[in-house]
Amino acid sequence: MEVMRILHMNKGNGETSYAKNSIVQSNIISLGRRVMDEALKKLMIRNSEILSFGIADLGCSSGPNSLLSISNIVETIQNLCPDLDRPVPELSLSLNDLPSNDFNYIFASLPEFYDRLKKRDNNYESLGFEHGNGGPCFVSAVPGSFYGRLFPRRSLHFVQFSSSLHWLSQVPCGEVNKKDGVVITADLDNKGKIYLSKTSPMSAHKAYALQFQTDFSVFLISRSEELVPGGRMVLSFLGRSSPDPTTEEGCHQWELLAQALMSMAKEGIIEEENIDAFNAPYYATSPEELKMAIEKEGSFSIDRLEISPVDWEGGSISDDSYDIVRFKPEALACGRRVAKTIRAVVEPTLEPTFGQKVMDELFERYAKLMGEYLYVSSPRYAIIIVSLLRMG
Ligand code: SAH
Repeated sequence: MEVMRILHMNKGNGETSYAKNSIVQSNIISLGRRVMDEALKKLMIRNSEILSFGIADLGCSSGPNSLLSISNIVETIQNLCPDLDRPVPELSLSLNDLPSNDFNYIFASLPEFYDRLKKRDNNYESLGFEHGNGGPCFVSAVPGSFYGRLFPRRSLHFVQFSSSLHWLSQVPCGEVNKKDGVVITADLDNKGKIYLSKTSPMSAHKAYALQFQTDFSVFLISRSEELVPGGRMVLSFLGRSSPDPTTEEGCHQWELLAQALMSMAKEGIIEEENIDAFNAPYYATSPEELKMAIEKEGSFSIDRLEISPVDWEGGSISDDSYDIVRFKPEALACGRRVAKTIRAVVEPTLEPTFGQKVMDELFERYAKLMGEYLYVSSPRYAIIIVSLLRMG
């Protein structure tokens, strides 16, 4: 699977689009807000002389969230300036995603975004928005993979990164051997599953962990070149708190999707071999793995690292021991909503292998399995939020 070509969220504005089904990710942006505000404050204090900041949102996707992140950044910077007794800086705001992302959706939303910025503060003229067309905010799009360089050296001061680090640059491959000088990679031997699971062989665990370490190290090296010394980066994404990647919080959404696929294979609707061969380019990392990679690369120090549990609709869970008690119809309705949020994210990745024709049926089954599961369990995602400082 050519991940960089295939991976994107469901486009447009329709029923199954990411734009209409990204409430979980929007809640993750809100969850990371406090840490982001803190990082921006430290950045502004340290760089009181700088009049123009380079800011990037990596993996911005399309839909309302892509502009929500940068809108929050602008708001925080504007609010900080009077307290710090400094002029509002010019902001160069770059939105990045893979080339197949629906950037047109974002461009079409820009006039409204600039209008909102102007209206939000009655004071906007004194903040430099008197020129219309966005005043000191310059929004641009940068298509390309964040697993590599995207920006000129030392051109960024702040990088924001929400709900995208769990995507890998490629599907991990199994053992690599050389035969007659030719590199041969084995498949993951992950029968009946599409991500790590209790039944996955140890070699699949190793391959996923290695792919994450490789990708994340390329990510850090690239950002270390692009950020100025003292620049900051805030990442929030789906991870896990346990060292074991096969606990419920780390993988159960994939487990249920594999069950839905297998039920279709049993009825001859899809091929079981396709399920065996498919593995998601996704990895929910742990804080330990993250710290190890950051320390190994060596350009960033960790200012803050937090884990917050959220339910599968993105709602915060404050008390760890609290289980939601749902009545059956409510659990089934919740299952349908959760299945829609996951469909908006994974459908384009599944389609090339299983075919577009079976997607409605697949997600119908998935919603049912999800509802049954939510009736007996209160699963949660573990959101890792990490704030990094570019040293130097
Ligand atoms: N930040 C948005 C979108 C999250 S969805 C939000 O909070 O709602 C994850 C996004 O990351 C997708 O749009 C996907 O295309 C993008 N993505 C995944 N891997 C990427 C890569 N290597 N380079 C750039 N974008 C990537």
